[in-house]
Amino acid sequence: MEKIFVMNLGTTSFKFKFYAFAGEDSQVLATGELESIGAPQSHYDISYADGRTISEEAPIADHGAAFAHCFAILQRDGVIRDLDDVTAVGYKAVHGGNLSGTCLVDDALIAEMERVTPLAPAHNPIYLNAMKDIRNRFPKLTQVARFETSFHGTIPQERVTYGVPYAWQEELGIRRYGFHGSSHQYISQTVAKLQPGARRIINCHLGGSSSICAVLDGKSVATSMGATLQSGLFNNNRVGDFEPFCLKPIMDHYGYTLDETLEILSKKSGLLGLSGVSNDLRLVLEAAEGGNSQAQLAFDTLCDNILGYIGMYAAYLNGLDALVFTGGIGTNSAPLREKVCRNLGYLGLQLDADKNAGRGDGIISTDGSAVTVWRLKTDEESVVAACVRAYLKENA
Ligand code: ADP
Repeated sequence: MEKIFVMNLGTTSFKFKFYAFAGEDSQVLATGELESIGAPQSHYDISYADGRTISEEAPIADHGAAFAHCFAILQRDGVIRDLDDVTAVGYKAVHGGNLSGTCLVDDALIAEMERVTPLAPAHNPIYLNAMKDIRNRFPKLTQVARFETSFHGTIPQERVTYGVPYAWQEELGIRRYGFHGSSHQYISQTVAKLQPGARRIINCHLGGSSSICAVLDGKSVATSMGATLQSGLFNNNRVGDFEPFCLKPIMDHYGYTLDETLEILSKKSGLLGLSGVSNDLRLVLEAAEGGNSQAQLAFDTLCDNILGYIGMYAAYLNGLDALVFTGGIGTNSAPLREKVCRNLGYLGLQLDADKNAGRGDGIISTDGSAVTVWRLKTDEESVVAACVRAYLKENA
């Protein structure tokens, strides 16, 4: 039986799922989330397959320490015997530059992730620190990375190419990579099972960070994020697509450095910057309903952004069989789904108001709709675990 510990790392958060595989079957033995890493006390909740749950606190300095702590807790609670009981750890790693797919964490991988850190400055350092720290603490443990760019390796070259001097792509790798690959892959595979005839799928992954992906016959053919995670749709805190020639006037007027300007565009823009209320769509909608016109504009702009991508991608796909909403916003916000779908009647898409207002995985379009609309919970960690397991088998 192989056991794989999958990690999904945020700036101050550490999410994990611990999988056991036996033949075709897999089981999640434990799932957990640690918050406030680096604070004097970190809080964590862990659930076990037998229904037990724990909710505890401990000082946890960084992500390497978080793994070591979880390992100790899982040992204490009888879920892990010893280090030999963990076949590998798997990372939902972000930017691998020229590396894509599933790769062993070794010196070459670390060097390549370091090289492209300027393209993912908020994400790669967290993973790099964890990989190095866990390697030091547990030198015998196999570490494998599944890059978030992986699913997008099938996008045609003309769609990953920017209109910049050709040498920039050749020498610097300035091109579209796309992210959220594990989520888009999971949804593509799930729709293939639920709606076997669906060849043309658009997946809207809308959460703390958002992107849209067009899938043809199970392969990504377009996605909204680019060389970095900052482009495409505007996100809760990020600007998304933006006119680079506005940088200079902004810096000149406010006296910001380039770094300060980029910080605002990546942390204080998007829903937060536009609404002036919050980066949480629930609060933005509440404010809009209370008459806050800036909040209303933020909601309208987000929906319009999403609609524009769906229109573009329906053109790339030459039609549409399935439209999926996933992520915390995609699965939970009925008003957003309703507003986005309102303008898609030209595709023969009809949303069912009652089903849209409901909850849980399922179809939310009418029986007669030409496009099947789905509300589906994503499961990125299951893709990482399956990819790590396949990698280990191929490289045994
Ligand atoms: P992450 O990208 O961090 O994994 P999630 O996919 O869990 O995040 O999505 C979190 C986001 O979902 C938050 O921005 C939250 O505001 C949003 N969200 C959760 N519930 C709702 C809701 N009912 N309506 C609108 N947005 C929601």
